[in-house]
Amino acid sequence: MFLHVEFLAMTATVLGLATSAASQSRYDLPAPALPDRLQGLAVVAGNLAWTWNREARALFSAIDVRLWARVRENPIALLRLVQPDRLAACARDDAFLAAYDGVMRWFEAERSWERTWYAHHYPELAGRPAAYFCAEFGVHSSVPIYSGGLGVLAGDHCKAASDLGMPLIGVGIFYRAGYVNQHIRPDGWQEDSQDWVNVALTPLTPLTGPGDSPYLATVRTAGRDVAVRGMQLQVGRTRIILLDSDVEPNHPDDRALLSQLYGGGLDVRLRQEWLLGVAGVRALRALGIEPAVWHSNEGHAAFMLIERLRELTTRGVPFADAVRAVRRTSVFTTHTPVPAGHDVFPRDAVAQCAGPIWEELGVDADALYALGYDPAHGRDYFHMTATAIRLSRRVNGVSQRHGTVSRSLWAPLWPGRAPDRVPIGSVTNGVHLATWMANPIMALLDRHLGPDWGSRADDPALWDQVLSLEAEDLWRVHVALKQRLMRFVRDEARQSYATRSLESAQLVGAGTLLDPDALTIGFARRFATYKRADLVFHDVERLRLLLINRERPVQIIFSGKSHPADTPGKHLLQAVYRYTREPRFEGRVAFLEDYDMRVARLLVRGVDLWLNLPRVSMEASGTSGMKAALNGVPQMGTVDGWWEEGFDGHNGWVIGPVPNDTDDAAADVLYTALETAVVPRFYTRNARDVPEQWVETMRAALRVAGRSYSARRMILDYVTGSYVPAIAGPAEGDDPPTA
Ligand SMILES: *Cc1c(COP(=O)(O)O)cnc(C)c1O
Repeated sequence: MFLHVEFLAMTATVLGLATSAASQSRYDLPAPALPDRLQGLAVVAGNLAWTWNREARALFSAIDVRLWARVRENPIALLRLVQPDRLAACARDDAFLAAYDGVMRWFEAERSWERTWYAHHYPELAGRPAAYFCAEFGVHSSVPIYSGGLGVLAGDHCKAASDLGMPLIGVGIFYRAGYVNQHIRPDGWQEDSQDWVNVALTPLTPLTGPGDSPYLATVRTAGRDVAVRGMQLQVGRTRIILLDSDVEPNHPDDRALLSQLYGGGLDVRLRQEWLLGVAGVRALRALGIEPAVWHSNEGHAAFMLIERLRELTTRGVPFADAVRAVRRTSVFTTHTPVPAGHDVFPRDAVAQCAGPIWEELGVDADALYALGYDPAHGRDYFHMTATAIRLSRRVNGVSQRHGTVSRSLWAPLWPGRAPDRVPIGSVTNGVHLATWMANPIMALLDRHLGPDWGSRADDPALWDQVLSLEAEDLWRVHVALKQRLMRFVRDEARQSYATRSLESAQLVGAGTLLDPDALTIGFARRFATYKRADLVFHDVERLRLLLINRERPVQIIFSGKSHPADTPGKHLLQAVYRYTREPRFEGRVAFLEDYDMRVARLLVRGVDLWLNLPRVSMEASGTSGMKAALNGVPQMGTVDGWWEEGFDGHNGWVIGPVPNDTDDAAADVLYTALETAVVPRFYTRNARDVPEQWVETMRAALRVAGRSYSARRMILDYVTGSYVPAIAGPAEGDDPPTA
């Protein structure tokens, strides 16, 4: 089922695994030589910029449309498997060659910097990059080193930086086992499996250090030296450097240390984060990169700040001065108010992992641990978020609401201070337009706004013009995208059935009975309990009446993985999955296995309504609803995260505010909204079968998302509000915590 990886099941004791020798597969055969005229295809496939260029996507697909789907839109796999005579035919086809030449011209322009926004506004900052540290990056499904929203957001951040010309270098981890693959048993229990990523089928390239050393850094942890290699992922103009410890000289346990994303226990996680921070800084130095600003995206990366302190103190800078210097050039973004999202390590575990680094810092142990002191945990713990807050000049949450929540949450670090005076701001998340907006929607905007609309995307007036899109035009494009989703659902079910990963009793739940004309609701994201995927089933009978209505049926498509260690999340998933098998729902509840960016792309553009039900105050932002809205798919959601500021009365529906946000009350509001607002609006059609009022909501959704929730708007906020002040300004930033 997973063509991009080899079928080597991981043993349960991954840490004992010494080698990643994989079984032979046809991917190990040498790639067929490309015709001379098409040599550039391999170059384009090696830079993930192709993922957001519609001509490049269309070009790869035109080589062999079926193979393109089978390799899950991985061009490197495509070029390996395609028949040589097919490539030869492409090289003789004038239309193909014209498209190819167009893509090559775009690709060349994509590599130059001079004409970018950043070069125009800050020419003097050319050689002063930002380093962006994150534990996961979701750039494309062919590089499976992300688990959910945080990673995809980081990927979109890098793409938007590339578009803008902001020199930014990502630093992350190469998880050789990727994230878990999901298989759902007939009883609804999620089984996790892992496959080693086949590097030959990714655009990852190994980096060499000074003097052609194969390693970029050596880091001492748990009493052993660990050599770390760097693998580079090129994302347009942005490079992401991924750390890899699976190299020859390392102890077998250390070779497996970085193989699993959020795998293993607390100690593994601590050591992964130690390597991310320490080896990350050293890798940049080894590559001769001198960041002018350092961004920790979530607390996982906070050891990067400690390593930079150590660099200064070992050079003789007094500790207090080093703290000030590190603060001056550091930015921190917190991504969740959920406690499990904040790593807290026992002091002893840190000492075990890192050794007595306070000695190198020239202070006693208490002074080091004071950096990670969080009043709620006490002096025996080292808190990663508290550390990052103390050592960063700018701290922000990821929506206005999350900014407010974070100010209260972290106010104890400034004893005696009122939350509204806590210096934590907000930069609301955004999503990368060209990644998430479907080609046919872009083509529609070309016709309506003029083909250069992409270059005017910063102008709010441009987005007002989408309100005058012809209802029928937008509706027909949407219906075509919905058909495509339905075809995808059936094809996946067919394939899983044929390969016996799905039993016949599961076929209905896989979506084979979905009705291409029925109002289709999408709910897809990580299955964490606070996201309340089960709220829809709170009153089963009331839901049933909505689903099985003869004239105006409703159907729901779910997708999402639970974290392998999240047992409550797995129970939630099981409960939801069981409803897909309920005959009384008549096949109108479906679950798509193995949610990833590819499935997300199809869902956010193909459903009619996006549903988001987080328990209020638990969702920092949420981004999938923005992706849907960029395709004209409105959201219905609780008043949380981005939706509190994003809902404008026209672009979807809000559930609430519900007093105390009890499930009873929230579910009642949800059903009522579906019954009285959503269903009638969707099914009220004009003489040409177009739901004009519904399309009004679609246009409003598209307008708001394009205007305010693109990753371009987000990166501009970071550039002007955080990066450039840190790079260019002498000021020290916001006032530091006092506790
Ligand atoms: C966008 C995205 C998410 C985040 O979804 P939320 O609604 O913010 O929870 C998670 N996973 C994937 C694959 C995504 O593309």
